Amino acid sequence: MLKLENVQSGYGNKLAIKEVSLEINEGEIITLIGANGAGKSTTLMTICGVVACRAGSVKFQEREIHKMAPDEIVKLGICQVPEGRHIFPQLTVKENLDMGAFLRNDTEEIKKDRDYVYSLFPILAERRHQDGGNLSGGEQQMLAMSRALMARPKLLLLDEPSMGLAPLVIKQIFEIIKQINKESNTTIFLVEQNANQALHIADRGYVMETGRITLSGPAQELLANTDIQKAYLGI
Ligand code: ATP
Repeated sequence: MLKLENVQSGYGNKLAIKEVSLEINEGEIITLIGANGAGKSTTLMTICGVVACRAGSVKFQEREIHKMAPDEIVKLGICQVPEGRHIFPQLTVKENLDMGAFLRNDTEEIKKDRDYVYSLFPILAERRHQDGGNLSGGEQQMLAMSRALMARPKLLLLDEPSMGLAPLVIKQIFEIIKQINKESNTTIFLVEQNANQALHIADRGYVMETGRITLSGPAQELLANTDIQKAYLGI
């Protein structure tokens, strides 16, 4: 579904990712793990066209997308939930969800999708008239994911959904990521520092160090790898 080949990108004269190659098949949950500053967010932003791809190629469903503008990439079915959520704080929960459906005009289907995200996160239904800015961190993460789902993405890019959240909320968010993947057949690319939880829900994983992929494989293999255990799992 998505293929990066020898991708390079960065900021000013600094290359943040160097010759990154990876593949995501339809229906998979793939995780990209790595330390602070490894280049994980830059990888996601390069896929979305927000950071320019300087070399190599990004293909989505056999189509080259690395020269396309971010809005064109969204229209193809790729949606990102950015690190830090970036919900609209002065809009209500419902209005935030409407913003996710901005490119659609199938009113009945939009309503169905809104009901679906409310069923995933009942707390959002309860708070639908409340301003997004007044939600807790966990609820804002739920809202950011729900807003992205309102665009009916084929590929959902999640940047550190667990960041700053309490363990119980993290558990709930990861369970729902799995549920979204299964129920709505949404392919998921999950960037996480919480390697343990991410690898437990993923099919495969990639490890990134200083802008390069250094290891990849089935999630179970990575979980059993002693170097990964020492470096990322605190075992
Ligand atoms: P984290 O988990 O801390 O978010 P990351 O793995 O997502 O880290 P990136 O945010 O992609 O890493 O950062 C990769 C490198 O690019 C880092 O050295 C970072 O300092 C640098 N970088 C990121 N954003 C910018 C920017 N807007 N301008 C300049 N350098 C940046």
